[in-house]
Amino acid sequence: MADRRKLAAGNWKMHGVGADLAEVDALAAAVPEPGCEVLLCPPATLIARMAARVAGTAIEVGGQDCHPATAGAHTGDVSAPMLAEAGASHVILGHSERRTDHAETDAGVRVKAEAAMAAGLRAIVCLGETLGEREAGETLSVVGRQLAGSVPSGATAAALVVAYEPVWAIGTGKVPTMDQIAEVHDFLRAELIARFGAEGDGVRLLYGGSVKPSNADEIFAVSNVDGALVGGASLKAADFGAIVTALERAA
Ligand code: PEP
Repeated sequence: MADRRKLAAGNWKMHGVGADLAEVDALAAAVPEPGCEVLLCPPATLIARMAARVAGTAIEVGGQDCHPATAGAHTGDVSAPMLAEAGASHVILGHSERRTDHAETDAGVRVKAEAAMAAGLRAIVCLGETLGEREAGETLSVVGRQLAGSVPSGATAAALVVAYEPVWAIGTGKVPTMDQIAEVHDFLRAELIARFGAEGDGVRLLYGGSVKPSNADEIFAVSNVDGALVGGASLKAADFGAIVTALERAA
């Protein structure tokens, strides 16, 4: 099995202003030398300030989306090279909220991932079924289709992270059973190996959806879970620090 470094990634979504950077200082103090990778993805307005704030700590900073083009007439968008210049090392792509709010497709996510990788960013590609799809028994076919369509052919273990986020578990407090998480993560691992060989074995697979300090230990014990993508619980250093500590225990 590949040696996959565990990753705790926080998605601040459209939350956070300058005053909230105090949480980043508190997180850096709480986990000064983390035994796993720690990433925070704030709104675009805070990337450069957060990157400056975490300089000299182990905390990395990422974006929440990027445009596939390097530059151009795309009002309101931010390109991958712009994120990199602002201090981002990663970018979340294809989050279900963007797939819903902005009608993002698998093909659209794939070209964004290509742009991210070309700019030297690690792409965190998100996948996940709706409740209706799960109840219809379509979970594996949905995430398999999303994986095939959203991940570019040149992906490597260094450049790609995949996050399994059941849409019905995001921000709801509902979490799949550990068997359900294992089924999807084992399936995604097999699909990645089938497509990318040893590189696919090295791609980190994150679970996302209502991860909290109280459930992190059991989730991190699940087969092929290499970390978490955390929304609400990443906003407070006390909660995210506890999740990082749980991941360190599992590493
Ligand atoms: C997310 O936004 O990716 C997420 C998993 O949110 P939450 O942890 O709040 O469910």
